[in-house]
Amino acid sequence: MSHVKNIQDSLKPIVALCKRRGFIYPGSEIYGGFANTYSFGPYGAELKKNIKDLWWKTFVQERRDMVGLDGPILLHPKAWQASGHLEGFNDALIDCKVCKGRFRCDHLIEEALKEDADGLTVQQMTEKVQKNKVKCPKCGAQDFTEARHFNLMFHTHMSKTGADGDVAYLRPETAQAIFLDYKNIVDTMRVKIPFGAAQIGKAFRNEITPGNFVFRVIEFEQMEIEYFIRESAWEETFERWLRSMHDWCKLIGLNPARVHEKEHPKEQLSHYSKRTVDLVYDFPFGRSELYGLAYRTDFDLKRHAEFSGTNLEYTDPETREKFVPHVIEPTFGVERTILALLCDAYDEEQLENGETRTVLHFSPRIAPVKVAVFPLMKKEPLADKATQIFTQLKAFWACEYDESGAIGKRYRRQDELGTPYCITVDFDTLENDTVTLRDRDSMKQERVPVKELLLILSEKLK
Ligand code: ATP
Repeated sequence: MSHVKNIQDSLKPIVALCKRRGFIYPGSEIYGGFANTYSFGPYGAELKKNIKDLWWKTFVQERRDMVGLDGPILLHPKAWQASGHLEGFNDALIDCKVCKGRFRCDHLIEEALKEDADGLTVQQMTEKVQKNKVKCPKCGAQDFTEARHFNLMFHTHMSKTGADGDVAYLRPETAQAIFLDYKNIVDTMRVKIPFGAAQIGKAFRNEITPGNFVFRVIEFEQMEIEYFIRESAWEETFERWLRSMHDWCKLIGLNPARVHEKEHPKEQLSHYSKRTVDLVYDFPFGRSELYGLAYRTDFDLKRHAEFSGTNLEYTDPETREKFVPHVIEPTFGVERTILALLCDAYDEEQLENGETRTVLHFSPRIAPVKVAVFPLMKKEPLADKATQIFTQLKAFWACEYDESGAIGKRYRRQDELGTPYCITVDFDTLENDTVTLRDRDSMKQERVPVKELLLILSEKLK
């Protein structure tokens, strides 16, 4: 099926777990699938929400220099002219004349020749493919078309009459919505430079060769910050944000040894950027971009001022000096965060009894379920007591109640969901009001009094 075709073997156990346990389903599956779209199932939706909530708390709620925004997906079409996306948001596309396979030309070159093709013109790419006799990865032929530009923005139509109206674009990044509201924020929020605006939302890109599960999809979510500064402060601000991005990776529980920095060479920078550093992660299919940090200069605000005719200068409240702010942009993809977390947390452990247990070692901060409560058997008064405990705990944490099947199987199921703690109500509970508390990672069980559960769990889940 289209979904499976693009997924490398190294990811397959994770993809299977995501389907089996309700994290991520292939999109439109009952219709045979709709390539490179995915649905976040019940646990995937919880995981996603935990990541977004933690991001918002970290970068908006806990900071005095940040505000939030929720801008529209559809912006005035002129905004995409100003931002340079209409002209420049292209990938180079190349087709195999024999099998009709379609490829991103930079990826084709990188894979065949093991060299970086970022920043080459379409002419240079065509020459490289021809000179080096690059073969089609699908059919092995050496017969490609010339490379050509392909704009990644999705089009739609604004129509009042039922006929095709004016073209509008689904945003390919959330950033531009922040630039369009920069003036509103300054006028209404009493913010002073330096300050940032943060947004979480969908972005759409008509990627030529998507794949690797949710690593590259056509519809995804971004968590982006535009941080407005004076030009003179750009270097120190850039370094500070780089550190904050590493801190975020640690906060969500990613192994720091798998997170690296990749500096973009000057000649490969995007049209708006003077410096870009990617945080790359060691995915099972190779080291690839997780997040990006770019110094966008005053490019965007200046262009929007020019194209809209609106003055976007900032006035320093003390000196009355006027200037167009410069911008540092940290950007975080939600789907790539989820994929990195899944890859990092996934483990198949050999147990002493010869069995293999599959477990997700999620940080409790982001785990979709924090505590599962089981009665040892599905009968009274065990079930009633377990329900009481569940009812008490679910007011504080995402909890699950499960009474069916062997207790070992119930533990395994929670291990696969990454649930840090399980509580079992057994016959001793009825005698002395204690339960067993099982730790996902060590699988150790301790006996704790029911009346201390809230305190103990608060400490453990802090
Ligand atoms: P790539 O080089 O992998 O295409 P990019 O450099 O174009 O990525 P940016 O424009 O910097 O990506 O987008 C910001 C962030 O949005 C990325 O760091 C990534 O986390 C996420 N992202 C970008 N494109 C996709 C996509 N097609 N699917 C999922 N996430 C994406």
